[in-house]
Amino acid sequence: MRIGFHMSICGSIDRAVDRALEIGCNTLQIFTRNPRGWIARPLRNDEVEAFILKVERNDVRPVFSHMPYLPNLASPKNDVYAKSVEALIVEMDRCERLKVPYLVTHLGSHLGYGAKRGLERIVRAIDKAFSAVGGRVTLLLENTAGTRNSVGGRFEDLQYIIERTSYPDRIGICFDTCHAFAAGYDLRTEEKIEEVIGKIESTVGFERLKLVHLNDSRGGLNSHIDRHEHIGLGKIGEEGFRSILRSRFARLPLILETPRNGVRSDLDNLLKVKEIAGVKP
Ligand code: ZN
Ligand code: MN
Ligand code: MN
Repeated sequence: MRIGFHMSICGSIDRAVDRALEIGCNTLQIFTRNPRGWIARPLRNDEVEAFILKVERNDVRPVFSHMPYLPNLASPKNDVYAKSVEALIVEMDRCERLKVPYLVTHLGSHLGYGAKRGLERIVRAIDKAFSAVGGRVTLLLENTAGTRNSVGGRFEDLQYIIERTSYPDRIGICFDTCHAFAAGYDLRTEEKIEEVIGKIESTVGFERLKLVHLNDSRGGLNSHIDRHEHIGLGKIGEEGFRSILRSRFARLPLILETPRNGVRSDLDNLLKVKEIAGVKP
């Protein structure tokens, strides 16, 4: 089983690997930069080398990078859109340098201009970025909670993008359990999970999935609320996760993005997942 967390790069990027190893993770997600700004601090050669060495030596793989928060690849506003495409290009470059094979992105918001127009913007953004960057990074489209004006709450949206981009071989899916549940995909029983897997099969194809974001949900089924909860303490619940961890989803790398609010530590969430999955800690 591959389990890890989104880890802080505070100090330098390779420190994220140390943090993962401290609690016994064997995979990892990072922001390669401050996620709340437009400008990325340049990478230093020494931290790039240290990061690659630590990942390879300790087999903390695969590593996933997550796009920062400000870019909106579906934006109808030309200035924000251009900056967003540029940010995607920069991040793909950084992944290349850090030998990070996967980059996770949200699909953004169409700001009321309609899902169809948002999707067209995203297809163009992706094509532009891939035509500008060489390399091999795979872009993972993350399903969203289906909050107002957001794109990507339904697998049909993700399918639409994959079918229209000129680079379908470079695109995969990140399946977030909290987002899926909030968007209306029930994950609380084996039968419901099989239905969701069937839906994935008939749209993007299960083999597109390269990553699961394993998060419980504060919001109820179809609530469209994107609030993560500790594993088993939310609306998906422990029984839901028992079924999820028995399903095909558990064969994928699992990255937790559970809260850091003092209720439960990362280590305790990791132990909880292992306990539910019935694997030795
Ligand atoms: Zn995300
Ligand atoms: Mn996520
Ligand atoms: Mn979320």
